Amino acid sequence: MYHLKTIVSRSAAIASKQQLAKFAPVTVLPSRNYADHQIPERLKDVATAKDPRFFDMVEYFFHRGCQIAEDKLVEDMKGDSLEERKKKVKGILMLMQGCDHIIEMSFPLRRDSGDYEMITGYRAQHCTHRTPTKGGIRYSLDVCRDEVKALSALMTFKCACVDVPFGGAKAGLKLNPKEYSVHELEKITRRFALELAKKGFIGPGIDVPAPDMGTGEREMAWIADTYSKTVGYQDINAHACVTGKPINQGGIHGRISATGRGVFHGLENFINEANYMSAIGTTPGWGGKTFIVQGFGNVGMHTCRYLTRAGATCVGIIEHDGSIVNPDGIDPKLLEDYLTQHKTIVGFPGAKAYEGENLMFEPCDIFVPAAIEKVITSENASRIQAKIIAEAANGPTTPAADKILLDRNILVIPDLYINAGGVTVSFFEWLKNLNHVSYGRLTFKYERESNYHLLASVQKSIENAILNDESVQESLERRFGRVGGKIPVTPSEAFQKRISGASEKDIVHSGLDYTMERSARAIMKTAMKYNLGLDLRTAAYINSIEKIYTTYRDAGLAF
Ligand code: NAD
Repeated sequence: MYHLKTIVSRSAAIASKQQLAKFAPVTVLPSRNYADHQIPERLKDVATAKDPRFFDMVEYFFHRGCQIAEDKLVEDMKGDSLEERKKKVKGILMLMQGCDHIIEMSFPLRRDSGDYEMITGYRAQHCTHRTPTKGGIRYSLDVCRDEVKALSALMTFKCACVDVPFGGAKAGLKLNPKEYSVHELEKITRRFALELAKKGFIGPGIDVPAPDMGTGEREMAWIADTYSKTVGYQDINAHACVTGKPINQGGIHGRISATGRGVFHGLENFINEANYMSAIGTTPGWGGKTFIVQGFGNVGMHTCRYLTRAGATCVGIIEHDGSIVNPDGIDPKLLEDYLTQHKTIVGFPGAKAYEGENLMFEPCDIFVPAAIEKVITSENASRIQAKIIAEAANGPTTPAADKILLDRNILVIPDLYINAGGVTVSFFEWLKNLNHVSYGRLTFKYERESNYHLLASVQKSIENAILNDESVQESLERRFGRVGGKIPVTPSEAFQKRISGASEKDIVHSGLDYTMERSARAIMKTAMKYNLGLDLRTAAYINSIEKIYTTYRDAGLAF
């Protein structure tokens, strides 16, 4: 029997008392009595509930952010009496609570066998402060109204967190895609797209879906095709009705791996912060860090790839049908090949079967839940040994568990920030579709030639300097021998790589990196400003609330 307890975390610097005190979890500041935001009575139990409703969880986290943000919003509002300002702020915050629109639908499917079956689907548009709204389509048996509402709300706060100018939405079909043929899935997806279109729940300027659990490029291509051949046939931007498409259907390089890449950047921004790392008793940097991933699907697999590339070691993977471990590291590429061939990670020769109780509770530096919601609860949060939790999945931590993790000085990098890479690159894809030209197409050759001109002119300047200045001539002669021919100006390796100009992939990667870095800085700044310690979730929610609030405030509330 193999047990992961033998794996020792390799980074074990202990934080000084002073450092820990600096990051002591403080979640609520004393109110300045402007607004005194209260968590609604109906959500009071969520703080301790073992299995809260998903939408209640998101609402609860939102209200926790409001408890800190609302006072400041009232304080900063110009003009009007205090009472008026309080009413306005409360009114605007109210707009962020419920879903603006929800659709629930059923339609029939004639299966390959000739049998009929009803398919149930949902789409929720949470906040329409910015349009289009944006959010994935999930195919899973767990899909229900509550889940879709919660995920759409998370999308609102996620988009605001990383400055993607969309409202939040989400869709789901209650089915297990593995139980349907490709032909059946195509019929279901096309019919769903058509129903959404008929009801105003899809369109390049209205609502733009993307992949999520159980869906991918293939489904997005079917949706784009259905929309552009029916309701959107006169719309030149029709293909911008959905993102996550294959490249030849208007997709963008880097979208498939974007969420995993974003998880890597999100982690890196905090892992390189000495203050945060010493507060949780570890050292900055990737070297020697171990991680365990739950869910080896799109997000989990790419996260594994990027973290491994950065120098961390994947010591375990949890899937729905079994877990595998290897203290020396699991090779993500080999595992991906194995999964493609065998449709399971179980039996992978590069690791051993895990036979303990639950791999989630084993020691590692980073735990990455990348599967489903509510996996870290009040019942198991105290057993997690990771120092960092990177919420690649949406909603993996319940509020009660969140509190336990905070009290235990575990750094939780929240979903609304760390898994925002997907929607960020979806935004880039949407822009590309509206522009009808790929990134770099217009500037690629110009940039390359400019760089060569630059190089040539540097060379010329050096030659002129040699002619006019004896000391330059002497030093160059010493370096390159007697001057007679051209002085070799050799570009550095890094410059050589960039000399040809930025490809679409380069631009997407750099845009994503920049977005994740800028948002991380903003979260850290808010955490410091309000003395939130390790409570990055509340800091991220405060940032989002403030941005959405400003959009509503400046657009005017009444219509
Ligand atoms: P996916 O369907 O590609 O992968 C999910 C994986 O999790 C599958 O391999 C599945 O077998 C596994 N899984 C399911 N239940 C499990 C369980 N109980 N224990 C262990 N493994 C389990 O889905 P995905 O697109 O990778 O999404 C995963 C999570 O990331 C979801 O919460 C999703 O909302 C979130 N997310 C996805 C994206 C995206 O771009 N795809 C973006 C942001 C957030």
